[in-house]
Amino acid sequence: MDPIAPNPHSPHATADPNTRHMIPSFIFAAPVPGVLALTGCNRLAVVPSEPLQTAGEEAAFPPGMCDDCIAAWHAVQRGEELADDRPLTDCTSCESPTRHGKLCALCAQDAHDEWRGVQGATGGAS
Ligand SMILES: [Zn+2]
Ligand SMILES: [Zn+2]
Repeated sequence: MDPIAPNPHSPHATADPNTRHMIPSFIFAAPVPGVLALTGCNRLAVVPSEPLQTAGEEAAFPPGMCDDCIAAWHAVQRGEELADDRPLTDCTSCESPTRHGKLCALCAQDAHDEWRGVQGATGGAS
């Protein structure tokens, strides 16, 4: 299997930029390419335009995948959830408690959308 490319860049992503993260999809919120979304490892990464190809039940993930995302995926298959032991801090924008660092997930998504809008207006980086 060829190594998989990391998620697209965003200055507001908190996930490791060197690995590919899984974006779990929910019935009420299918991941839209280009948006900042919660990853399997509970961080934030940009949804890539090409979907992740896995070998289904065998769970053979391509090289370059985030280990924590794979661990979380296996935990979900067992009906478990991985503990998140990162400290809770207050979002610097809306002051809600968050484990995502400076900005909570919602504020980071807002900031990302704003950043994307600027990129689009200036011709884009990609
Ligand atoms: Zn991950
Ligand atoms: Zn916030």
